[in-house]
Amino acid sequence: MAERITVVVPVFNEAVGLPLFVQRLTPVMEGLGVDWSVLFVNDGSSDGTLERLKRLNEEDPRFTAISLSRNFGKETAIAAGLHYAAADAVILMDGDTQHPPEMIPAFVERWRAGYEVVLGSREGMAEEGALRRFYSRGFHALFRLIAATRLPRGAVDFLLLDRRAVDAMNRLGERSRFSKGLYAWIGFRQTTLPFAVGGRAAGHSSFNFRRLLHFAVDGIVSFSTVPLKVWSYLGLVVSAFAMVYAVLFLIRTLVSGTDQPGFPSLIVSIMFFSGVQLISLGVLGEYVARIYEEVKRRPLFLIGEEIGVSEPKQGRRV
Ligand code: UDP
Ligand code: MG
Repeated sequence: MAERITVVVPVFNEAVGLPLFVQRLTPVMEGLGVDWSVLFVNDGSSDGTLERLKRLNEEDPRFTAISLSRNFGKETAIAAGLHYAAADAVILMDGDTQHPPEMIPAFVERWRAGYEVVLGSREGMAEEGALRRFYSRGFHALFRLIAATRLPRGAVDFLLLDRRAVDAMNRLGERSRFSKGLYAWIGFRQTTLPFAVGGRAAGHSSFNFRRLLHFAVDGIVSFSTVPLKVWSYLGLVVSAFAMVYAVLFLIRTLVSGTDQPGFPSLIVSIMFFSGVQLISLGVLGEYVARIYEEVKRRPLFLIGEEIGVSEPKQGRRV
């Protein structure tokens, strides 16, 4: 029996670019000689993406889709797609043609050679500006410094996961998901495959600065507790310093009396340490908020519509 491969594609307002994506993907999949299907995850689009997906399914039942009840964000859309995909291997990619479908045979070849996770690694950043590149580098440097999980260089959401790796991803119950870290965390035999990012077929990136910042904080907080712990070390150093200073101050007062100088330094140190305290409270808040999100145990996503697919039998694990 032929291997089954499903391509999972999160889409959010991609109606204009979708036909081009399908047109490029189809011949590549046909050439693989496998039993293939595509599973789009409509992430609450408002531009007719859903209608296009329905039409696509009517023309060719290998193109299936699920539609989330609203926009849940790309990370959650990926989780929903992995939950519904029942094939032997799943390929995850963006639907804006920035991830070239022509790379897929190379992914499958590595999979057949025994790798369970084949990660596409981006070479260059086609459209992003210098500022976004700068932020991206800064984030990766920080992540390397304080997180125990190693992110592969140029990690993006273009990858192949073997059935076992998909099952592993589906077992991760966390709500705030940072997929790039999770792919690395699950382990298995992994390899990377460099590819050149293409241009967007249509529309523009839905990640503005605010969304990217949120994404970066999510990534750090999900994979490191260093920001929580660093304050106690800082507090220790500051207390030690204050102790030494107190002793020196006492000796000086005993020897030569006091004339009450040092008002500016008092103000500066009060302001500095109030700032430090507020920052550490804020960091605490980030983690507490996440604990709150987790304990509410709301479902990770809600399905509005199933187009040519149904939920796999093993039941929802997320
Ligand atoms: N996407 C999504 N939900 C969102 C935002 C984006 O499913 O809330 C999809 C989008 O349709 C695309 C992929 O995620 O297929 C990557 O999004 P985008 O191109 O905006 O991000 P970038 O390439 O700038 O990282
Ligand atoms: Mg894109």
